[in-house]
Amino acid sequence: MAAEPPEAIARRLGLAGARDLVLHLPLRYQDETRLTPLDQARPGQEIQVEGVILHAEVQPRPRRQLVAEIGEDADSPRRLFFRLLHFYPSQVAQLRPGARVRLLGEVRPGFFGAEMVHPQLRVIRGDTPLPETLTPVYPAVAGLSQNAIRKAVAAALRDGDLSDTLPAAMVEARGMPGFGAALDHLHHPPPGADLALLENRLDPAWRRLKFDELLAQQLSLRLAARRRHALVAPPLADDGGLSERLLAALPFPLTAAQRRALGEIRRDLARPHPMNRLLQGDVGSGKTLVAALSVLPALAARSQAAVMAPTEILAEQLHLKFHEWLTPLGFKVAWLAAALKGKAKRQTLADIAAGDVDVAVGTHALFQTGVAFRNLTLTVVDEQHRFGVGQRLALREKGNLPPLPAGEGSTPHLLMMSATPIPRSLAMSYYADLDVSVIDELPPGRTPITTKVLSLARRDEVIGRLRDYCLSGAQAYWVCPLVEESEKLQLKAAEESHAELTATLPELAIGLVHGRMKAEEKAAVMAAFKAGGLNLLVATTVIEVGVDVPNAALMVIEHAERYGLAQLHQLRGRVGRGQRESTCLLLYGDPLSETAKQRLRIIKENTDGFAIAREDLHLRGPGEFLGARQSGLPMLRFADLETDLDLLETARGLADDLIARHPDIVDRHLDRWLPRGLDYLRA
Ligand code: ADP
Ligand code: MG
Repeated sequence: MAAEPPEAIARRLGLAGARDLVLHLPLRYQDETRLTPLDQARPGQEIQVEGVILHAEVQPRPRRQLVAEIGEDADSPRRLFFRLLHFYPSQVAQLRPGARVRLLGEVRPGFFGAEMVHPQLRVIRGDTPLPETLTPVYPAVAGLSQNAIRKAVAAALRDGDLSDTLPAAMVEARGMPGFGAALDHLHHPPPGADLALLENRLDPAWRRLKFDELLAQQLSLRLAARRRHALVAPPLADDGGLSERLLAALPFPLTAAQRRALGEIRRDLARPHPMNRLLQGDVGSGKTLVAALSVLPALAARSQAAVMAPTEILAEQLHLKFHEWLTPLGFKVAWLAAALKGKAKRQTLADIAAGDVDVAVGTHALFQTGVAFRNLTLTVVDEQHRFGVGQRLALREKGNLPPLPAGEGSTPHLLMMSATPIPRSLAMSYYADLDVSVIDELPPGRTPITTKVLSLARRDEVIGRLRDYCLSGAQAYWVCPLVEESEKLQLKAAEESHAELTATLPELAIGLVHGRMKAEEKAAVMAAFKAGGLNLLVATTVIEVGVDVPNAALMVIEHAERYGLAQLHQLRGRVGRGQRESTCLLLYGDPLSETAKQRLRIIKENTDGFAIAREDLHLRGPGEFLGARQSGLPMLRFADLETDLDLLETARGLADDLIARHPDIVDRHLDRWLPRGLDYLRA
């Protein structure tokens, strides 16, 4: 059979082309450089032995297998059995007495004495030399043998360009090997190399490759930032005294953290380049008000703002607030409800296009269907964390985020908001093109939330206490078990919880909201709950973010172990918003795994979103955390943001220097590492 060309093998391995084979790095290694004498073959270790076949036969029972015995030579008393469970007729023919073989495998005590079960087998001539380097074992795909991959990689190493993209001095100063030397070491380590270091990717050669990868990431992010800084946006320097008027109408002053964040946003808006800022603040820290204040300079300039949220409920809540705050100042805030149909919808869209609407609020989905503005200068995106990198990318690729260009050659400013803090390592990598403002303080007068973790076995008891609690005039949420597999089953779970609680607690008014309800139905239930007409609200995660009912101070979460940490934190943030002492009860199903216990403990012991996000990142890894895994976007292949933070910092420092002084190096390095331009880095 003709060997497949390296190009084809590279494709099958999911690589772009043959030249990427040199970066297809081994998972582990086999030591075929040494032979262990047969009498020293001890169980429990992978070793290589050599000998001649004394006899070999195919045994039909208990299962068909080839059993053979080897000895150092025909008369030697030192012998070893081996068994092959899968074999070809050609192998049976090869293994005739006197044939010389090398076996690699683990010795185990067997029926006849020591034996190797299904070792790696190679028939050799008496003078076949031992390899001089360790044998790489590569990540493989079905139908592709290690041998085929090894040959293709070796060819790529031989024919490819392994020259260093970085000058030797730069590399040496950072204590790293050259690129070619690092690759050579990783593909073919010398005997005696520290396998633990290699397999844990801590070897200097590994660090060099991780560094190169991170450097490529940093370079591409820097270049993206430059492209953005070259864009033009309308400078929005002044709000004509509007903020003062809005603040004077509020019953409370801004917190110091809100003031600081607003100051940073206002400085960005005043510049002639589009803002790209994330406003980060824990649940309940008052981001909405900061967003409303940020919109004022756009309105003062007689231009428009778009405000979007991931769900209808959230968008509606935003609309309520913006409407409450901005209408008294003489502005028109439009609500692009999904339910808006026919003439009413046409009218609203026409008003937005004519510039008669100052602020349009709606879900992303709505804006994506195309809303024309007369003069849009600012887009606000709430609860940014709900979108994975992939979705953000899609929004931007389609040119829909911001929805439409503001005017000739001009880009609107962008303000994103999120309650999920970005850990430092991610902020420095995936979000490096983002400026971040943090609201690190909650408004005063909040009562801390007490969190309790209880077994679902105590559910009846909890329901009993819920009755007394609600009859005393407070309101509560009941969050149903999460059913991720199916929206239908999720709906069923919510309806069942609602029916059961309604039957058990006839003296309470109990509402239900879930994701499959029509927007108006949802809005009606939320409004009733907010107005105090309902004692208890049974809900799915649709209430996860943004819902604001200060009189609701108790939340019960059924099967809390099914929820993610960030989700639990978000859910819990719906209580603790008023003067009442707040409680969150996490009910778990028995038995609870060790990790699940650990996760619930993290929520119970931490009320700070930062601490929770850190633990979350630790438990799930950055891929999950970013939501990129589901979207299938490429992540870092080699570097690990948690363990390689030092390399990331070094790469960041060097990236600035290279862009400023060595554009040729930048080009070469990106060409090697991001030949197709990894778009996710721009999301
Ligand atoms: P989040 O940051 O989670 O989006 P919100 O913007 O919904 O939080 O604010 C939570 C609640 O706090 C709202 O009822 C809001 O009106 C109120 N709030 C905002 N800023 C302050 C403040 N400086 N002092 C008191 N309450 C505030
Ligand atoms: Mg909010």
